Amino acid sequence: MNQFSTDVINLGRTPERFDGLVNTPVFRGSTIVVNSFSEWEEFKRNGGVYRHYGRFGAATAKSFESAINALEGGAGSMVFPSGLSACTHSLMACVEANSHVLIADNIYGPTRNFADNILIKMGVSVEYFDSTNLEALTQKINHRTSVVFIESPGSMTFELSDVAAISAISHQYGAKVLVDNSWATPLLFQPLKHGADISIQSVTKYIGGHSDILMGVATANAETYEQLTKTGHWFGETTSPDDIYLASRGLRSLAVRLKQHENSALIIAQFLATHPAIKEVLHPALETSPYHDLWLRDFDGSSGVFAFYLKESEPSYVQKFFDSLKLFHIGLSWGGFESLILPVGQADRTHTDLPKDGYLVRLNIGLESVFDLQKDLEYALQCAEQMLVESVL
Ligand SMILES: *Cc1c(COP(=O)(O)O)cnc(C)c1O
Repeated sequence: MNQFSTDVINLGRTPERFDGLVNTPVFRGSTIVVNSFSEWEEFKRNGGVYRHYGRFGAATAKSFESAINALEGGAGSMVFPSGLSACTHSLMACVEANSHVLIADNIYGPTRNFADNILIKMGVSVEYFDSTNLEALTQKINHRTSVVFIESPGSMTFELSDVAAISAISHQYGAKVLVDNSWATPLLFQPLKHGADISIQSVTKYIGGHSDILMGVATANAETYEQLTKTGHWFGETTSPDDIYLASRGLRSLAVRLKQHENSALIIAQFLATHPAIKEVLHPALETSPYHDLWLRDFDGSSGVFAFYLKESEPSYVQKFFDSLKLFHIGLSWGGFESLILPVGQADRTHTDLPKDGYLVRLNIGLESVFDLQKDLEYALQCAEQMLVESVL
């Protein structure tokens, strides 16, 4: 896993500043006093006086932000109280009044809700496009386009988008490119190095890694960083130092956790790909994936979230499958230590065609023994198949 295995251990840590403690402690505080009138005036002259307040974050936030920024290769990062908040404030930072925004059709659902309900209310015209098709982008982008927002791989269906090509086209029109990079984390893909302007993480997922915090972070290039942070501050966004501490703790083990998630997910994906009850497995690292070449070109590995279609969509069959699982629990989110399964059925799309038959299921492969996980799925599929045979007889 390249140089990042060492980086995640050391980035953002300055024990010499904290009596030798290896971790930056939790710094809680609203007021931050200065030593004299002249120091206050000095801050004012440098435009920094209003940064002397807890809302702008103290050492706990700054050390986490500096670590993420180094991993993403940006000019600066800003923490947010949720991944969704990182998405919405990145949009608000870049959108212009009366402009046009292009959003990938496979975007995370709540990001779509924000665009459809808040951006539209502000007079922004929101349009969706198939981000795997560069022609769809060139047909829809125009000089009013202020933002192109993509997620790669896309939510639920795991299509990859060509961030470099999308950025090159978008920048010709003066549009900013925002990438939701939560699946890959900055360890497996760095959108800014491929031309994007902001890379967004739901820290809730792999970086937090323990299903006990909600948090986000956005990292911007030099041309976009100031507008991102000012926008976040104008909205009054602030993130709990306790949560940031847990996120920093998660970061230290991110490289080894990801490797385990990756290996187990590939084993399960290959098992499902050959199972007679499965129609198709959606995982960009599989050689059969239409996105495999792009994945090889851009990514340094894969994580542990992917999807598959059951051939059968009969409700009693689907219910039997889900209710026969013992290790995979039904639940939202992913990136934690525990395996999860999500009944999707059909992904919500307005501008791309998805297969209408079959039943879409998303898996989060956790850190359990992959042998046990495979047995769990095998048994549940067998129960559902058995029921099908009995109902035919
Ligand atoms: C979960 C998720 C988010 C939102 O993160 P929260 O921390 O739950 O707000 C954003 N994007 C993607 C791709 C996600 O999976």
